[in-house]
Amino acid sequence: MSDIPSEALSESPLAPAGALPLVELRGVSKRFVKALDSSMRIANLFGAGMREEIVRAVDHVDLAIRAREVVGLVGESGCGKSTLGRLAVGLLPLSAGERLWQGKPLGSLAPAAAREQQLKMQMIFQDPYAALNPRMRVVDIVGEAPVVHGLITTRQQVEYVGLQLNRVGLDPTLMRRFPHQFSGGQRARIGIARSLAVKPEFLVCDESVAALDVSIQAQVLNLFMDLQSALSLTYLFISHDLGVVQHISDRVVIMYLGRVVESGPTAELFAAPNHPYTQALLAEIGRVEPRKRVFVPIKGEIPSPLAPPSGCHFHPRCPYAMAKCKDVAPPLDEIAPGRWSACYLNDVALQ
Ligand code: SF4
Repeated sequence: MSDIPSEALSESPLAPAGALPLVELRGVSKRFVKALDSSMRIANLFGAGMREEIVRAVDHVDLAIRAREVVGLVGESGCGKSTLGRLAVGLLPLSAGERLWQGKPLGSLAPAAAREQQLKMQMIFQDPYAALNPRMRVVDIVGEAPVVHGLITTRQQVEYVGLQLNRVGLDPTLMRRFPHQFSGGQRARIGIARSLAVKPEFLVCDESVAALDVSIQAQVLNLFMDLQSALSLTYLFISHDLGVVQHISDRVVIMYLGRVVESGPTAELFAAPNHPYTQALLAEIGRVEPRKRVFVPIKGEIPSPLAPPSGCHFHPRCPYAMAKCKDVAPPLDEIAPGRWSACYLNDVALQ
């Protein structure tokens, strides 16, 4: 009989859909200060004024995710979606706004409570090889954090890791091997096992299947969905692949240059995209061969986040841009129950 504590083996508690959000971001922003280039550093040495460039990677974003919900986060490269994911799990400090867990602000937790809380939120990264320490054996990669955080004892580690590997479809007898002795798909499973080992409730999956072959992607996506239902997990699923997002998500959030421009239930948003940016993204799906589902950037350069366009950031690429689009950013309004969009065309439609 196993001597692993029952708390370490128990499934996450069920939370009814529609209840208080499990995770909530309120008005969160993230600013990065861009490093000075060498000529600016030299100028600075000679007494020239210090010049800083600010990147607003995430700009006043609200996002609430209910327990057991799968939210897909989509946008072009550089739109801030990975930064938003890191903010959601607390891997980056906020520049503004607040994070809440079941309605309680996380910023006010005492250090011990914050560490305990942090275990409930994990991130699974894109490159399964880079995310695993090549000098550690799988038994330590997966089993180290549960021991460090007191979920299990060192004596229980091997049995516990075996259970985690079984859960993600890996042979536990391979736990003494190093990451390079596994295939890409197996390494992705090791990364998932490592995250699950600390019993998270909320996972941010950042392009977690993007580096895998198409056939392996499908297997790992099925694993994500099986785990979500078996462990009542909540996902923020970041992907550039609209097919993946459509397949796995209950709700989709579209980002453009640090802001959310549209969100809504997956089937509704894909059937009738509201925001011109979402419409352009979805229009590209059918043009891409051979899989006919991979997102490619829409026409026109995405502006630099160092100097985003005024007003609605999308206005230089938008075929419907009006004069006021250049002046003031449109608010993110609820245009139908559960459907949100930030576009002045919705005001025109209501008139
Ligand atoms: Fe286009 Fe104006 Fe709507 Fe922005 S607010 S998406 S520029 S119509």
